[in-house]
Amino acid sequence: MDEQQAKQRVEELHDLLNEYNFAYFVKDDPLVPDSEYDARLKELEELEREYPSLKTMDSPSQRVGGIVLDAFNKVQHKTPMLSLGNAFNEEDLRDFDRRVRGQVGDNVAYVCELKIDGLAVNLRYENGSFQRGATRGDGETGEDITENLRTIRSLPLRLREPVSLEVRGEAFMPQRSFKALNEAKIERGEEPFANPRNAAAGSLRQLDTKMAASRNLDIFIYSIADLGELDVATQADGLDYLDNLGFKTNGNRVRCASIDDVISYVNEWMEKRASLPYDIDGIVIKVDSLVQQEELGTTVKSPRWAIAYKFPAEEVVTRLIEIELNVGRTGAVTPIALLEPVQVAGTTVQRASLHNEDLIKERDIRIGDRVIVKKAGDIIPEVVGVVESERTGEEQPFSMPTHCPECGSELVHLDEEVALRCLNPKCPAQLREGLIHFVSRHAMNIEGLGEKVITQLFHEQLIADVADLYRLTKDQLTSLERMGEKSAQNLLEAIESSKSNSLERLLFGLGIRHVGSKAARLLAEEFKTMSALQSATIEQLVSVREIGKKMAEAIVLYFDNEEVQTLLEELSSLGVNLTYTGSNRATVEDSDSFFSGKTVVLTGKLEHFTRQEAKDAIEDRGGQVTGSVSKKTDLLVAGAEAGSKLDKAESYGVTIWDEERLKEELQK
Ligand code: NAD
Repeated sequence: MDEQQAKQRVEELHDLLNEYNFAYFVKDDPLVPDSEYDARLKELEELEREYPSLKTMDSPSQRVGGIVLDAFNKVQHKTPMLSLGNAFNEEDLRDFDRRVRGQVGDNVAYVCELKIDGLAVNLRYENGSFQRGATRGDGETGEDITENLRTIRSLPLRLREPVSLEVRGEAFMPQRSFKALNEAKIERGEEPFANPRNAAAGSLRQLDTKMAASRNLDIFIYSIADLGELDVATQADGLDYLDNLGFKTNGNRVRCASIDDVISYVNEWMEKRASLPYDIDGIVIKVDSLVQQEELGTTVKSPRWAIAYKFPAEEVVTRLIEIELNVGRTGAVTPIALLEPVQVAGTTVQRASLHNEDLIKERDIRIGDRVIVKKAGDIIPEVVGVVESERTGEEQPFSMPTHCPECGSELVHLDEEVALRCLNPKCPAQLREGLIHFVSRHAMNIEGLGEKVITQLFHEQLIADVADLYRLTKDQLTSLERMGEKSAQNLLEAIESSKSNSLERLLFGLGIRHVGSKAARLLAEEFKTMSALQSATIEQLVSVREIGKKMAEAIVLYFDNEEVQTLLEELSSLGVNLTYTGSNRATVEDSDSFFSGKTVVLTGKLEHFTRQEAKDAIEDRGGQVTGSVSKKTDLLVAGAEAGSKLDKAESYGVTIWDEERLKEELQK
C-alpha cells in the first residue's frame, strides 16, 4: 500500500469508526460486534504507525469514543475519564509488563480485576452524601445522570464515613434483568437490545427516571478518582477502603507479584466467565502502587499503568462464501454456511449451521454477505446476522431447492415441520448417512468403520445397503486408499463379530423412524425375534411399555415394505443374528457415553426431535432427564426460545448445548 492508498483507507476508517461509535455510544444499538470494531481500530492504529503524518488529533484512535448528548446537563470531569489499552494475547501482556518495568523498575505488583461489560460512571460524594453522577462522555465532559443512578439499589446514597471524594465504577445490567427486559420488549413488538452493555447504557440515559428504575441495574466501583485528603497508597488498599465505605466492589480481584500470575488469573477467568451472573469482556490489569501509576502517567487516550485483556471474541464478522446443503439420514435437508475461516472463541470456524430456510429469510442472509458469526461457550457456531452497511449489491439471495441436491427427488415439509425432507429411501445421501448410523457405537458397533471409510466404500460402489457390508472381501478393502492389509483384516473381523450382536443393536441400526436405542431394546426383549416383531400388530406393539402409537405405526409401516423384507432375508442368509440374546446390550450400562450418569434438562423448542425422543435417546445412553434446573444439573439442552431455565442454568454455570450439539453427540 502506498501513501496515497493509505490516506484513502485512513479516511474510510475514520468514517466507518465514527459511524460505529455513534451507533454504539449514542444509539446504544451497535452495527457490528466489538471484535469487528476492535479490528478496524487496530488497522487504523497500524496505518498511523506506518504513516505518522496521517495521524490527526480528531482520529478515532486519539479520542475516547463517547459522545455527549444535549438532553442532559454537562459535567466537566475533574480528571479525564480515559479508555484502556488492549491486550489480546499473552505476548501483549508481557509487552505491557516490559514497558512498565522499563519505566519504574522491577519492583512491580499488579492488581487484576474483572472487566465488567457495562458503562463507566463517575460519582461525586460530599461529606459522605451522593451528590452527582455522570457518564464518561468524551472523557473530558460527561452527562449528568444523577437521578437515574439514584435508582440503582447497590449505589450508596450515604457512606459510612462523612468523606468527600470522587469514585469511578461500572454500571451494568445483570444477565437476568437483561433477559427479562428483552423478553418484554419482544412481546411489545420492540427491537431487543443487542447486549447487556447497550441495555445498561440505554437505561441510564433515559429521561424518565421511572424507566431506569425498572431496569434493575447494578454497579461495581473500581477506583478512587480524586483521593482528596485520603491516605491510600495502592489500588488494592483503595478497593478495600471503598468496601469499608459501603461501596459494592467486585470481590474476584487478586494482587499478583508477577506477570505469570497475571496470565494464570486471566486464563482461569477465561474458563470461568460463563458462571458469572453478569457479562465480563476481559480482565483489567493495573499497577498496584499509586506512586508508580503517577510515574507512568497517561497518553491522550489511556493510562500507561493499566491494560485491558480482551477475551477471545464470541461474535465475529466474516464472509459467507457459499451455502451448502446437507442431507441427513432421515432425509432432512439442512443449509450450512461455508465461511471464510475465522477465529471465534479461540477456534477456527469455517462452517456454521443455518438451520432452515425460514431463518435465512428472517435474517436476510445472502451469499457473499459479511455475516456475524456467534459461538458462545460450548454452543456450535451460528450465523446470527448480516452487516448490511457493507453490502455491495453483488450479494445473492438464497432459496432452498425444490428437489434433493443428492438424488433429485422432490422435497416436502412433513407434518408442518420447518425442515424440508427428501423422502426417497434410495437417496444416496440418506443411504450413506444410514450406513454411518448402522455401524455406529450404539448400533452395530463395528470398530474401524467410521464416517470416512463408509464414505469411501460408498463412493467406490462397494456398498449400497447394510447387507453389502457383510459381503465385503479383503481385496475390496485393500483397494481403498490408505487401507493396509492389517487394517482390512481387522475390519473384516469386526464386521464378522458384529453378526452375533443381540437383536436390539440391529433394530436400532436399521434406523426405523422414532425407534431410539432404548425402544429397540424394549422391543427386542419383548418380541425376542425379528420375525415375531415383523408380524406384530399395532395393538401388540403399543401394549409394550413406553411404545406409543406413533412409533408403533412407524414400525408396522417399515416392516410392510417389500425391500425391507428382502433386506432382512439377505442379512439372515449372510449369517447376521436376528434374535435377542440379551448378552451385549447397547444401552443403559454404556459408561462410555457422554450422558452416562449425567443429569440433563431439556428446554425450548426442539426441531429435530420431540421432547420424548430426545429424552429416550439420552436415557438410553445412561443419562437422566429431569424437569427443572438445579445445582446438580450437568447439562441443559436449549432449543429455540428457551426461557427462564436457560437463565437459571447460566447463573449456576451449567454446561449449555443447542440442539445441533445434542444431535452430534447422539450420533456418536
Ligand atoms: P474499553 O471498554 O476497552 O475499556 C475501558 C473501560 O473499561 C472503562 O471505561 C470502564 O468502563 C471499563 N471497565 C470495566 N471494568 C473495569 C475495571 N475493573 N477497571 C477499570 N475499568 C473497567 O474501552 P472503551 O473506550 O470504553 O470502549 C471501547 C469498547 O467499546 C471496546 O470494547 C469496543 O469494542 C467497544 N465499541 C464497540 C463498538 C461497536 O460498534 N461494536 C463501537 C465503539 C466501541
